[in-house]
Amino acid sequence: MANKPMILVVEDDTPVRNLITTTLKAHEYRYITAENGEQAVMEASTHNPEIILLDLGLPDMDGVEVIRIIRTWSMTPIIVISARSEDADKIEALDSGADDYLTKPFSVEELLARLRVTQRRLSIMQAGAASESPVFTNGQLRIEYAAGCAYLGNEELHLTPIEYRILCLLAKNVGKVLTHRYITQQVWGSSWDNDVASLRVFMATLRKKIESQKDSPQYIQTHIGIGYRMMRVD
Ligand code: CA
Repeated sequence: MANKPMILVVEDDTPVRNLITTTLKAHEYRYITAENGEQAVMEASTHNPEIILLDLGLPDMDGVEVIRIIRTWSMTPIIVISARSEDADKIEALDSGADDYLTKPFSVEELLARLRVTQRRLSIMQAGAASESPVFTNGQLRIEYAAGCAYLGNEELHLTPIEYRILCLLAKNVGKVLTHRYITQQVWGSSWDNDVASLRVFMATLRKKIESQKDSPQYIQTHIGIGYRMMRVD
């Protein structure tokens, strides 16, 4: 792939950092590193990396704080890295503007897969296509925003207003993991436990309408305990 993006790796744990940088080097990514939050903010502001891999547990600063600071001037995709037990931290990181997460311990394949997803998201962001275009297309799925209609192939989808709003929200953030809290706030304007339960129901009915294979959903990925993401489909 031409023009691999420059990646900022923020990780205080040396073996993990070395695993990441060795992987990046082997796949011809360019990278810079930081070992704490202060360095991360400095490197992000001076080098304008295209993707940031950010460990949430840093010695000097909470990783979520690093996201908040970087988000004041930059929309650079951020993939957070945290331990399996730290779901609440991941949710907070996603709600603060992170795009995706990796759970420690992760494999080299997982790291590369996340980077590919993020690169696709990056190219969509750079094209301005996701937010600006009046028509969204992804695989067989098409949304005509002005008309308020969605299609799968040539068939118009018969969606309820809430299903349609959820679908549009996921489409506008294609490639990004959206938390339950974020989706319910955008769709209902609130985020009670009841809303999250309703979201599950609407998501199930929406999926029935857009996914042809129920066992292997193509468009909408579930992140258990965290949220949902629309995947780019070829
Ligand atoms: Ca750490």
